[in-house]
Amino acid sequence: MVAKILDGKKHADSMLGEVGASVGKAIAKGNRPPTLAVIIVGNDPASQVYVRNKVRACERTGIKSIEHKLSVDADQESLICLVDELNDNGAVDGILVQLPLPKHLDPKMALLRIDPAKDVDGLHPYNQGLLLQGAKGLRPCTPRAVMNMLKAHNIALKGARAVVIGRSDIVGKPMAFMLLEENATVTIAHSRTQNLPSICREADILVAAVGKPGMVEGSWIKPGAVVIDVGINEVTDESDAARIMANEPKKLETLKAKGHVLCGDVRFGEAVKVAGAITPVPGGVGPLTIAGLMTNTLWAYES
Ligand code: NAD
Repeated sequence: MVAKILDGKKHADSMLGEVGASVGKAIAKGNRPPTLAVIIVGNDPASQVYVRNKVRACERTGIKSIEHKLSVDADQESLICLVDELNDNGAVDGILVQLPLPKHLDPKMALLRIDPAKDVDGLHPYNQGLLLQGAKGLRPCTPRAVMNMLKAHNIALKGARAVVIGRSDIVGKPMAFMLLEENATVTIAHSRTQNLPSICREADILVAAVGKPGMVEGSWIKPGAVVIDVGINEVTDESDAARIMANEPKKLETLKAKGHVLCGDVRFGEAVKVAGAITPVPGGVGPLTIAGLMTNTLWAYES
């Protein structure tokens, strides 16, 4: 068996297209565009890339983006004041504080300060409480978009055995609750889980959100299972790569040429021979996250 590849880029394009169409309709009726405010503190290069990509997705969908840059030594007070100002601004629908923040700032305090109605990352305890109750609300972007893709591919969720590896507030836990909401029977596995391979083998739907390159081996996967690989890991060591990416010659060539290569938490080359469907890394879950953010911003605007 060779698994169907779940193309995240293609699905993200279709989600962005839908958001763009809704924004276009709202503007044609004479309304202001949905507006996303992004706060970035300091000069972390990875954060700058993420923010640039978010701004591009806004441009593509017709969402207005406002970038607020604070200097690396900005204090907690200035960050909180900015969040308050954006909370009070009726023309701002979504507020996003780009993480990680410099060490002297408390990300929890900043996230708690965001008006839950504008919390487009879905990380405020109020929104996480709504999710727990199965009520509508803003939900973390990655699992939200993964669910959207599973449904678009008509993947059976009702009664399915789902295993989510990872229990973070941003991916693992919300992913598990969204699968539960769709009547899957969900197990959350984590760093202290015993017998992880045998638990994974029970899964009709296996979601890996760990951050450990190639942790999930082909033998952990139930034949025909749907495998969603959320992990994004950079590998630089050739012997690690040879072990993890044994059946992926192109990746090994990339590593040789560039000195680094991206891979997921799942050994794709092994898993693709066992699974029924699988997301690649890169090009799987990665592109979906920003599409989820745009969907959330539109939702906040329309609510
Ligand atoms: P995190 O570090 O907050 O959580 C990792 C989880 O993995 C923890 O809950 C931990 O219990 C579990 N874990 C650690 N070691 C384990 C082990 N040996 N066995 C089983 N479970 C183990 O990470 P996160 O923010 O949830 O992100 C997870 C991965 O997903 C990272 O690689 C991250 O880069 C990636 N990610 C990707 C996207 C995307 O857009 N595709 C979005 C968010 C996160």
